[in-house]
Amino acid sequence: MVSSGATSFEERVSRVLLDAEFVTDEQLAKAREQSREGGLGLLDTLVSLGIVARETLMTVLSFQLRIPVVDLKSVQVDPEAVALVPEDLAREHNILPVSFETDGSLRIATMVPNDFQLSSRLSSVTGRQTKFALALSGGLNELIDRTYAAGLPSPPPQAAPTGGDSAAGVAISPAEERPQAAIGAMGQDMSQLPAVQAVELVTLQAVKRKASDIHIVPTADSANVLFRLDGVLQEQVMLPLRLHESMVSRIKVLAEMDISETRRPQDGSFTLGFGEKNVDFRVSTIGITWGEMMVIHILDRSGGILSLEDIGLDARPLLTWRQLLSLPFGMVLVSGPTGSGKTTTLYGSVAELIKDRGNIMTVEDPVEYRMEDLHQIEVNRAAGIDFPSGLRSIMRLDPDVILVGEIRDEETAKTAIDAALTGHLVLASVHSNDAPSSFIRLLDLGIEPYMAATAVAGGLAQRLVRRLCPHCKVQTELGAAESLAYESEMQEPAEQLWEGVGCNFCGGTGFLGRTGVFEVLPVTGAIRKLISDKAGGQEIRTQGIAEGMVPMRRAGMIMAKEGITSVGEVLRKVFFID
Ligand SMILES: [Zn+2]
Repeated sequence: MVSSGATSFEERVSRVLLDAEFVTDEQLAKAREQSREGGLGLLDTLVSLGIVARETLMTVLSFQLRIPVVDLKSVQVDPEAVALVPEDLAREHNILPVSFETDGSLRIATMVPNDFQLSSRLSSVTGRQTKFALALSGGLNELIDRTYAAGLPSPPPQAAPTGGDSAAGVAISPAEERPQAAIGAMGQDMSQLPAVQAVELVTLQAVKRKASDIHIVPTADSANVLFRLDGVLQEQVMLPLRLHESMVSRIKVLAEMDISETRRPQDGSFTLGFGEKNVDFRVSTIGITWGEMMVIHILDRSGGILSLEDIGLDARPLLTWRQLLSLPFGMVLVSGPTGSGKTTTLYGSVAELIKDRGNIMTVEDPVEYRMEDLHQIEVNRAAGIDFPSGLRSIMRLDPDVILVGEIRDEETAKTAIDAALTGHLVLASVHSNDAPSSFIRLLDLGIEPYMAATAVAGGLAQRLVRRLCPHCKVQTELGAAESLAYESEMQEPAEQLWEGVGCNFCGGTGFLGRTGVFEVLPVTGAIRKLISDKAGGQEIRTQGIAEGMVPMRRAGMIMAKEGITSVGEVLRKVFFID
């Protein structure tokens, strides 16, 4: 068994450390206990507790046990080595091919360097001698995921046409016809690919890496493909212009757009199947100086609904929000700029209501997740369904709870307010910066202040910040601007705070994944009066804070203090007002 093998191996190493007096009995006992609780390997626990320096451990391992080690944070993984070992096999045995030795043998990172059976199996699969190296830094599983998602794994991408309303299909070629050059990091000689396969490759990569958007941007002599990952646009590959043109045409055919039109803006969409799941792509193009620029928004509805805890809502704000959701009627607003995770919060909230709140109906543009027991209407302007008409038709169907994807015009605002005042719980998003100004946004849309004050029960505002990479975050001194911002918000000195230095797990960015920063403001008697009196956002905010609201800025700084994110990230995402 993998785990027992790992344990006995780690125990052996720790005995060597003990004999050489690098650790004491007590330290080892403490590390064992922590390792069991924390799930981190014993050796990594010794390092993380600061009992043994990583370098010491590597020296002991390399020289005394004659086992090479590989530090997962910094090792350069060779895509050609990865291509030799099928993904399934790598996952099953928790191994990662990393490089070739000078004698042509394959170096493989593992937690169990004494599994000789596996070694011989790998030799027969890869046709090469294999040599194990002990993986340091933990997170081997994670790096296997990242590597097989980022580099191209050997199994063929199973992009297949799925019918639906997309008439054109994606031709599939069997794996053996796939040019060898396409294996490896994306872009490795993609120039030799036909457009159909290039499109398949790019979309598969984007879906695997959970990108939210693909940008294809022509320049004077080439075209750049970028993915938006965790909210940040990142360059993926440069294409020759010839391939750019044919790829853009290919995508326009899929999205049923006019391929002869290359200057005017156009929109379209298509669906592709990846294995079990279908993914929707919404395409927009426009002619720019060097050709056609294309942005493809990815709607992967298979991800499942995140719970409110999963999105980072916790403690008091979560409690307050749940109290608002438990109201029999009234309007609750979720606000934040585009891409701040409002939809995820709305779905997480609705998911909690599904069990016992009867008929829940939504009108959305677009429907981003499909949820069982939820009756969802998608805005479709061509068919005459927009937010106001969708909402009016919902009202005829006797709903208990209504979710309005976004309130952005007077008619939708009025209909939603009416619904909230006539016995319905209405959840809606509005485009505003913070919770107090979400109430004022309704007045800007033409709602009478007393109506808004009566109907609205509370607001939640949010931003998404990137989480620090747990593998490479370190405590450090902050720069002057960051210290100042921290100190003025928190009223305490900014001592050592956290930053990510960048490693293999986070692609050198120092961040891994995202989480929400929230403020939740219930409409109390005092705030109701302020809204009726047309008070400004600042006045409402001051009252909210006096009543216990933790504003987003402060919530963000608390997360920076806890090492969840960095002060710089809070400054960029939460302090920035658009
Ligand atoms: Zn990292």
